[in-house]
Amino acid sequence: MNKAADICKHTSSDLLNWVQPIASQQSLREEQLIELVEINSSSLNPQGINEVGEWFANAFNKISHDIERIHLPPWERVDFQGVVQQQTLGDLWRIKKRPHAKYQILLTGHLDTVFPLSSPFQKANRLQAECLNAPGAADMKGGLLVLLSALELLESTPLAQQIGWTVLLNPDEEIGSPSSAAILEEEAKTHDLGLIYEPALPDGNLAGARKGSGNFTCCVHGKAAHAGREPELGRNAINKAAELILELAQLNNARPGLTLNTGMINSGETTNKVPDLAVFKFNIRIETKDDAHWCTQHLETLISQYNEHDGYKAELHGGFGRMPKQLDSQHLALYSLVQEYSKQLNRPLTYAATGGCCDGNNLAAVGLPNVDTLGVRGDFIHSHNEYIQLPSLTDRAQLSALLLLHIAQHGLPFKQSRTGGIK
Ligand SMILES: [Zn+2]
Repeated sequence: MNKAADICKHTSSDLLNWVQPIASQQSLREEQLIELVEINSSSLNPQGINEVGEWFANAFNKISHDIERIHLPPWERVDFQGVVQQQTLGDLWRIKKRPHAKYQILLTGHLDTVFPLSSPFQKANRLQAECLNAPGAADMKGGLLVLLSALELLESTPLAQQIGWTVLLNPDEEIGSPSSAAILEEEAKTHDLGLIYEPALPDGNLAGARKGSGNFTCCVHGKAAHAGREPELGRNAINKAAELILELAQLNNARPGLTLNTGMINSGETTNKVPDLAVFKFNIRIETKDDAHWCTQHLETLISQYNEHDGYKAELHGGFGRMPKQLDSQHLALYSLVQEYSKQLNRPLTYAATGGCCDGNNLAAVGLPNVDTLGVRGDFIHSHNEYIQLPSLTDRAQLSALLLLHIAQHGLPFKQSRTGGIK
């Protein structure tokens, strides 16, 4: 039996009793969830994101008065004309409690969803008594309510004095956290472990190791000409981009687990003109940090070769925003603790590696062990079939509250190694 299990054996019934009151809030949380999912908070809708952020700031105000609203720099992205655009984002919220306590826990969640204002999917629809189909219900407004419930419970107990916590609610996770990553990583350095409220799988299982991810935009410039009169004067950007895209596809599995997907392309106005610009976007997933370095060098070499082709110019924008999350011994100890308490809640779970990324990657990249799928159970996220299993609003909050109480009583599941200093 591992150390976590041994400790739980002596304290589980007390702690399990302590987290029971969370269940009495189930119907309130369901009402709140419906209210929240019907506020559109697409990553590109800062107004809606701020409305959701203000809702949570107001809710957290009952347990902490150290609440900061932070304006983020705009998200820079290259559009299909090859022009860098500045996208305004919603605000990030930072809420702190007891920054000098012995154990410092960082809890994060995102306010944005993938559903734009123009989407027909804006309302909640109850599928069965226990299932709600709604935009962002599982990913992750339900998770944010779980986070809130867990901290409210902790604050209602005397054990809270042992725990300091920081909540970060960011507005840009669904687009890769381009503007919040720096704050996530800065906070990670002053905390002992991270809890993130991305949705779990329908059976409650967690994501384990995660691949890293890079997003890139490539602009291939050619030369316009009349397609009938003097095509020889033109340089066809579509043809050149197609060659480059096929060369990039060769990177798939060039290293173990490496995948490259060209997902978007735009070019041309009419068939009787040689197109002078083609813009395409691709994503690369990697298993190790070394892969990022290798890919970056490989891409630079490839692009420079295309710049040597007569009359063409290729430009590459973007990079690896998220490094892989690999499960080291601290992560394994943390996951084992989560498993122990899940068992005690009669919801045993396991974890598996995934190609998907989240802010857990960012925290792990600066050395903060974290478990990143502590949110609600649900499925079909990022689609109009997204649903949440409503009872998980309670039992997942109980799970998180148990983790916090355990740490308050018995310490971290691994040796404290924080070097960033307590603020
Ligand atoms: Zn999410």
